[in-house]
Parts: sequence; structure tokens; C-alpha cells
Amino acid sequence: MADLKLPSRAEDFSEWYNQLVLRAELADYAPVRGCMIVRPYGWALWENITAQLDKRFKATGHVNAAFPLLIPQSFISKEQSHVAGFSPELAVVTHGGGEKLEEPLVIRPTSETIIGHAYAKWIQSYRDLPVLINQWNSVVRWELRTKLFLRTLEFYWQEGHTAHATREEAEAETLQMLETYADFAINDAAIPVIPGRKSDAEKFAGADVTYSIEAMMGDGKALQSGTSHFLGQNFAQAFEVKYLDQNGQQQHCWTTSWGLSTRIIGAIIMVHGDDQGLVLPPKLAPYQVVIVPIFKTEEEKASVLDTARKLKAELAKANIRVTLDEREGQSPGWKFNDWEMRGVPLRVELGPKDIAKQAAVLARRDRPGREGKVSASLADLPVTMERLLAEIQQSLHDKALAFRKGNTHDAKTYDELKKAAESGFAFSFWCGSADCEAKIKEETRATMRCIPLDQEGGSGTCVCCGQPATARAIFARAY
Ligand SMILES: [Zn+2]
Repeated sequence: MADLKLPSRAEDFSEWYNQLVLRAELADYAPVRGCMIVRPYGWALWENITAQLDKRFKATGHVNAAFPLLIPQSFISKEQSHVAGFSPELAVVTHGGGEKLEEPLVIRPTSETIIGHAYAKWIQSYRDLPVLINQWNSVVRWELRTKLFLRTLEFYWQEGHTAHATREEAEAETLQMLETYADFAINDAAIPVIPGRKSDAEKFAGADVTYSIEAMMGDGKALQSGTSHFLGQNFAQAFEVKYLDQNGQQQHCWTTSWGLSTRIIGAIIMVHGDDQGLVLPPKLAPYQVVIVPIFKTEEEKASVLDTARKLKAELAKANIRVTLDEREGQSPGWKFNDWEMRGVPLRVELGPKDIAKQAAVLARRDRPGREGKVSASLADLPVTMERLLAEIQQSLHDKALAFRKGNTHDAKTYDELKKAAESGFAFSFWCGSADCEAKIKEETRATMRCIPLDQEGGSGTCVCCGQPATARAIFARAY
């Protein structure tokens, strides 16, 4: 596998992605069209993502729980825009135990309804609020055009669901979780993101306001990488989630929901990957370091492996995620290519000459070739690696940010927007009308990604109709 080259990103970005996912052994296709098998290497990456997010959720007062996979179909119909949005994507169970069910059951596409039902039972008084629950699970939304991690029928994610006494608290929670996602994306995934508000046409079915973080992929297209919804009292009214306030009055709760999914793995691949394969940010990489032993004779082999095993133990003790490639029958060169495909941030090349000097060669994945190689003394290796891993983390982020800036244009005219959207983001004034948004989508295939929270640039006129603008928005083609 490692002998074959990937198609280059410039030549065929889509096929580069598809082959990379398979060859890096992140995921595979499943017998049911639209489904995906996440392989151990891909799952290890997801586990690191979940650990970083879960830590943040708990630090902001959230707790985890598990709600059922099956939801009575009638629940989905209780909130009108929710049912309208999700009906075309539902998988419905009609039979169980060999018999036709009285009421069909829906496999959760998201859990607002079943959680609303539970909250109605659990919440009685203002003293029960806020309720701050998250769950890690998978959901099903019927989808036939498979693209591993980006578009699958079943995907893995977390969904947070909170209930509050006041609108202000719920709005603050919605924005807090948006910031949490942005902080994770920037600092752990090394992906610069733009936090912003979605237009009404793009918001979640059942939300008053949807916010998202948007990232630019290596081909200039956008990927929505996490969403946070202010649900107002829509679900609280549909499911009668009520509480007695301090004056003994019945009030409906204000609720939120927020989710980040395995799509973020697609983002990591497309933001950082190069023609040799995956490039992983050190903070999330399943292995931060791989040691490749180099030897010719049996005698050399014994000495190199002995040093390599000691080094591995020492690095593990320093909390560096490290693996030693002892596979028989493969040349060092083959192993280099294989670990480059898998995106391991640092490679240690260890041979008899290095050991004689009590040193090793370190090769950075983010800087291929001679430029990324340094010789370091074995005694200092843990310290040298900590420094290099931090540098790689920062440099991946900075490179992605420079790429996004270089491919984002302040499009002032419609022609400029059309041109900008062919290869990147157009940042343009917009009047707020759904008609202009639809026209832009129809004619350029660029959708309104978000209205950035950071509204730099004063006032202007709509890029489409010339009327006074209400905001500046990002328009781009998207995954
Ligand atoms: Zn307009």
C-alpha cells in the first residue's frame, strides 16, 4: 500500500481524500451503502478528540448521560419545523420481534425530542435549573452519497442539551459552547475557524438561532465544523418542559443544543494533509512519535532494537504517545512512507551510526525532506521532542490561517463574489434577504456559511441587490 502514491491534491482533491482515508486506515466502507466502519487508527484519533472536548464540557458544568436510540415517531412530529426538516432523512423501524409495531419508531437523527420528554418529567421548579447534559453517541440521517467522515448515513458525535430559566442564560450557554468548539478547533485541531451565526435558510430545524464554526479546507471549500443552537421555547412548548418560578408561576424553559461530529476528522485531513498523506496535529495524533530502527546485520539489529525499546519506554514515561515499528520484512524507507501516510508528527530514525554518537535523526512530518530533519542527542530527546511537537502544532495552525487569509476576498461586487467563491471565501455585505441568499446560491453554488460574530469593516451595500446591508457574511462552496 505504502508503495503507491496518492493522486496529488492539485490534480484530484476528492480522490486524494478518498484514497488517503483508506490507506491511512482511518475508515472503510460498509456493506450498507452510506455507512462507515471507523478503523482503530481513526477511532484512536476520535478518542483523542472526544477526550479534549469532554474535558471542556465538564469544566463548564456539564455531565454525560445516555438516551435511547429509538424514539416514538409521534415525538418527531411535535415540533413543526423539526419534523419538516428531518422527515426526509428518517430511518423508521416498523417491525420488532417479528410483529408489526403499533407505533413506528424512529432511529434518532438527533435527540431534542426524547430529551425534551425526559426534561418535562425531571424539571419541576426553578431549583432544578439549569440542566446541563451531554451525550456521546451515533445518529442516523438517511444519506446515500457516501464520503467517509463527511457524509455518511450514520455518524458519531456528541449532542449537548440544556434547559434554563431565562432567555439570557440560554443565549449565554449557546455562545459559550460555540466558543468552546472554536477553542478546541484552534488550539487542539490547529484549525483556524470563523465563529458566526447562520442565516434562517441554513439554521437547524427547530432552532431560533444557529451558530457554527466554519473552516476552510485545502481546496478552498468550507466545512461547517460544529454547531450550537438557541432553541428558544420551541421544544419546551412542544414537550411541556415547565418550571415553577420564585413567584409560584408556571414558566416554559429556554433550551439549547450543540453538536460536533466525526466530520471534524474530515476537516483535519483536508486542512493539514499533503500529497504524501495525512498530517496530524500533535495534540490529537494517536502516535506523536514513531521510532523506525535501521540496521543491516543481526548484530546491528540487536543493538538498535535494544536502544529503541529503551527510548520508547523513556518517551512513554515523559507522556509522549510513541510507537516503535518493529515490523519484519519491510525496509526503513517503506516504513517512512507508511508513517508519512498516517501523519505521525515526528519520526525518529535510529541506526548504528546514530547510536555510536548517542544521537538520533528526527524528521518533522509537516516539513518533508532535508529541511525538516535534525540530529538530537539521545539524552535530550524527551525535551527536544516536547519543543518540536509544540512547534509543529503552532506551525500547522499558522499555515492553515495564512492559507485561509490568502483565499478570502473582500468581494464588493457580484462579479468579485463569483470569482472569490470559485477558489475560496467571499466576505461580502448582505442585505439580510433570503432572496439574495437564494440567488447567490443558485448562480454561484456558494452558500452563506455564516455571519461572523466579528463584524469588521463598517457598513456597505448588499453584494447582490445593492440595498443597504445589515451584516457582512461569508459565502463559499461547502462540503
Ligand atoms: Zn440583497
